[in-house]
Amino acid sequence: MSPSKSNLKFKSIPDTNSNILEKIKWAEDIFRNQYFKGNLLDNEIKSLVSELDLAVNECLKVMKEKGVTSLCSGCGESSCCGEGIEDKFDAVTLLINLLLGVKLPERREIEGGCFFLKRDGCSLRVREVICLNYFCEEIYKRLEFQNLIAVQKTCGKEMDILFTLSERIKKKIFNLGWMKNESR
Ligand code: SF4
Repeated sequence: MSPSKSNLKFKSIPDTNSNILEKIKWAEDIFRNQYFKGNLLDNEIKSLVSELDLAVNECLKVMKEKGVTSLCSGCGESSCCGEGIEDKFDAVTLLINLLLGVKLPERREIEGGCFFLKRDGCSLRVREVICLNYFCEEIYKRLEFQNLIAVQKTCGKEMDILFTLSERIKKKIFNLGWMKNESR
């Protein structure tokens, strides 16, 4: 068995309660593992990654056009992105960020802020539903209803693709683990 294959027993997906550094480590190990990389990235997953990339662009565009981005950046470091939100992250979402070229942070940059919050905003390309779905009172007050609906509709597409992609990746990882057990 190749060394990368024999390491698979260490690669079960950390559960949601695991520490964020553990989740990041898992995602980076999988991302760098040639066996996983070669077997994980089939055409269906590649195409979902591209679809997700486009959906993220659309979501960011509509957030900017409708004024959400400027309202959020107005809050700066005291935004809703508080410490602890990172605990809600699924390790596979971090792996998907790596697949989209994101460099995951090594440490928290802003005291009291989410682990992924940087001085210039969120360091992730793909965020969890909790980040995309949340609007503070100020946004509800200041955004016209139809603009809010437009943002929710567009970002809903990103969330749907993220869910499908994440499930595909989990299934693939499970199957790869099963293959490893069978080959013993
Ligand atoms: S992941 Fe990004 S958007 Fe979500 S809470 Fe953290 S910094 Fe904010």
